[in-house]
Amino acid sequence: MRDRNAASDLSALDAELHTKMQERKRILDEAYRLKAELERLRPEVDALQRRANYFAVEFKEKHDEALAAYEDGDGELAKEYSMEGRELQELCEAANEQTSEARSALREVQDAMRQHFNVAKQLEGELNELRRRLNGAQRQHEQERRNSETRRRIAQAVTLSGFSQADTSSIRGCLSMFPTAILQRLDRIVFTAQGAQGQHGRPITGRTRLFPGRKYFVEMFDHDPRLGERITETIAHELGHIAFPLLSIERRKEWMDLYAATDDTQFVSRYAIRDFEEDFCECLMLFRGKSRQSCKGK
Ligand SMILES: [Zn+2]
Repeated sequence: MRDRNAASDLSALDAELHTKMQERKRILDEAYRLKAELERLRPEVDALQRRANYFAVEFKEKHDEALAAYEDGDGELAKEYSMEGRELQELCEAANEQTSEARSALREVQDAMRQHFNVAKQLEGELNELRRRLNGAQRQHEQERRNSETRRRIAQAVTLSGFSQADTSSIRGCLSMFPTAILQRLDRIVFTAQGAQGQHGRPITGRTRLFPGRKYFVEMFDHDPRLGERITETIAHELGHIAFPLLSIERRKEWMDLYAATDDTQFVSRYAIRDFEEDFCECLMLFRGKSRQSCKGK
């Protein structure tokens, strides 16, 4: 289950990375297009500016000539110069306007280019962050793969006897979902054809006993025609009896408090009401044994 989540995390991250890389490429392409545009516009603006400057100088000269002619008393010539001057002035003003329009177009291109480069830079930062996360997810995925291999190997080493071939393989599959700390304490699971009676005379489906050497021994009993279907649920419950003592004292205390605070109508099964450990096992069965709501006492 966790493997599948890690794998889907990986492919989601990979897809996100890919999309962002494409986005960055698109933005960068546009930024470089704008840069080329800017390089094309710059000499044009300079040429327009030179043209405007030229008319300004010409106008100034014509203006000075008109003043000089006026001072010389040649009103006719002064008038001619001043008319030429006015034409030059109009040309100069038109050229100035054209230059300032071209300059503001250039500034717009420049702003757009800077903005695109900034966005590309920001995307690069996000890409680096994504690459870091993808790296972490890959490491985690690899770690989980190794863990699940270890669990499968240990589950393979548990002795199973008295089960059919099909049950044996579904039991090993069920076992490989459990933490190694539990599996390492499980020595064997044995199927016994004769039923056993529980404390209150009810037939029981399984029982867990501690061997010398801190190894556990799980017995399964054939009293229930549906046992074949419920085998992994029963095993999940029985492994709860191995798991519970492995919890820290604080964790167990928390569980006991939770058990004490739970109303009788709210337990996962009737059997869970019996005591806090059975409650824990019944919950583990629901969580790991893929149980339907049918819970049976053990
Ligand atoms: Zn039990």
